Amino acid sequence: MPSSDAAKKAPFSIIIVGAGLGGLATAVALRKKGHAVHVLEGASELKEVGAGIQIPPNSSRLLQSWGLKEQLLKKVVWPKNINMRRYQDGDVIGVTPLDPKMTKTYGYPYWLIHRADYQRMLHDAALAEGATITLGAYVQDVDQENVTVTLHDGTVLKADVIIGADGIRSRVRECAVVTEETVEPRTTTNCAYRATVPGEIMRADPEVRHLMDEASSNCWIGYRRHIMAYPIQEGKLYNLVMSHPGKAAVGKWNEPGNLDEMKAQYKGWDPVICKVLEKVEYCLKWTLADLPVLPRWVSKSGRVVLIGDAAHAMVPYLAQGAGQAIEDGASLAECISRARDSSDLPAVLAAFQTIRKPRCEKIQKGSMENGDIWHMPDGPEQLARDADMKMEMGATDEDRVAAQLKQQKLVKSNPNRWSDPEFQPWLFGHDAIAHANTQLDLILKF
Ligand SMILES: Cc1cc2nc3c(=O)[nH]c(=O)nc-3n(C[C@H](O)[C@H](O)[C@H](O)COP(=O)(O)OP(=O)(O)OC[C@H]3O[C@@H](n4cnc5c(N)ncnc54)[C@H](O)[C@@H]3O)c2cc1C
Repeated sequence: MPSSDAAKKAPFSIIIVGAGLGGLATAVALRKKGHAVHVLEGASELKEVGAGIQIPPNSSRLLQSWGLKEQLLKKVVWPKNINMRRYQDGDVIGVTPLDPKMTKTYGYPYWLIHRADYQRMLHDAALAEGATITLGAYVQDVDQENVTVTLHDGTVLKADVIIGADGIRSRVRECAVVTEETVEPRTTTNCAYRATVPGEIMRADPEVRHLMDEASSNCWIGYRRHIMAYPIQEGKLYNLVMSHPGKAAVGKWNEPGNLDEMKAQYKGWDPVICKVLEKVEYCLKWTLADLPVLPRWVSKSGRVVLIGDAAHAMVPYLAQGAGQAIEDGASLAECISRARDSSDLPAVLAAFQTIRKPRCEKIQKGSMENGDIWHMPDGPEQLARDADMKMEMGATDEDRVAAQLKQQKLVKSNPNRWSDPEFQPWLFGHDAIAHANTQLDLILKF
C-alpha cells in the first residue's frame, strides 16, 4: 500500500481494522471517494451469527446512497410496525408504524435482515468497489506516530490513516487512542439469548402463525426482561432476542445458552410467545454491555481513529449499534475526503470526532434508558408508561389533548422512543452525509 511521511496528496491509503458491519460499510464509503482501502480482519472467516438485525432509515438511506438497494431488496423483510406488547398477555401497548410510514416520512425504509446476509452483502460490495480484504489478519499492535499496524505474524503495514473498527474490545483503541487507561466495557445486569425458529415450523402452528403472516417486529416488555422478535430471510426464519437478568460466564461474550433456563426466564408470559420459545432448539447467550464515554476517538498523532462499537458500543435497546457504525463510516469518508494532503488529516479526523461523538453518545445513553423504560415492574409507573405509549405519533392534536386531560397531566413525549415526536425524526431522519458536510463547512478553515 503506497504511503509516505511527507504531506501526501489525496486520495489516501487507509487501513481498516475489523470486517464487521461498521468496517465493511466504511470500506465501501471510502472506496466510493477513491481512497485505497485495506481491511484487516482477525477471524479466518466472516462470522456474524445466524440472527437478525434491524436496519433503520438512517442506515438504509446511506446503504442506498452507495447503490446497494438492489442487493438489499433480495434479502430484507419490510416490517409493517414495531408493536410493543405487554408481557403477560401480548396486548399491544404501543405501535410504531414502519411501512410505508418510514419511507413516506423520512424517504427511506425500515428493514429487517439476517446478519450474515448483511455482512456478506457489505463484504461483496467493498470488494466490488476495489477494497482489499484480508481475513486471518489479526492486528496485534498499532503505532500511532508511524501510522503502522503489526499483524500477529509480525508483518508491518503502513497507511495514511488507520481506522479501528474492531469492536467493543478494540485493540486499536488500547494500543493507539486511549492509552492512558484500560477502557473496560460496562457489563449490564442483563444478558440476551439469541435464537431463530424455522419459518415453516412457525407457520405450521395456528397459534403463532400470525407472527409470520404479518411481518412486524414485536417486543414483549416486562420486569427486567423483554423479547424482541421478527421474521427474517423472506420468512424462512423467525428471529428472537431475549433480554433477561443474568451474567454470561466470566470472560465469555457469546456462548451456547441452556434452553430450560431460557424458557424459565419467561414463565407466565404471553402464551403466544411461550409457544414460540418451545420451538427453539438452540440458543446463544450474550453478555449485554456498552462502553463508557471515551475521552477521545482520535490518536494524538491525528492519524488513527475509532468507529462503531470500538468507539461507542451501546446496548441494543434502540437497535442502533450497527446503524451508528454505518453513519460513522459515511461521515468519516466525507471528512477524510476534505483533506487536501496528509497534513490536513489530523484536522479532518478531529472534525469527525466533533461531528459524530455527541450524536452517538446521546443514542448510547438513550439505549440504556430505553431498557429502564421497558423493564419496569408492574405498578403505577408502568400503568402511566403504558398509557403514554398509547399516544402514538399519528394521533391528532385533539387526540393528544384529550388523552392528556384524561390522564390529568401533560405528556410531552412518548416513552416509546421509536414513536416519540421529537426523538424519532432526530434518530431516523438523520442524513449523516449531509450533516457531515454542513458541519465540515463550519469547522474547517480550508
Ligand atoms: C443482541 C443484540 C442485538 C442487536 N441488534 C441491533 C439492531 O437491530 N440494529 C443495529 O443497528 N444494531 C444492533 N446491535 C448492535 C450491532 O450488532 C453492533 O453495534 C455492530 O454489529 C457493531 O459493528 P462493528 O463493526 O463496530 O463491530 P463488530 O461487529 O464487533 O466487528 C468488529 C470486527 O473486528 C474484528 N476484530 C476485532 N479485533 C481485531 C483485531 N485486533 N484485528 C483484526 N480484526 C479484529 C472482529 O473479528 C470483528 O469482525 C445489536 C447488538 C446485540 C448484542
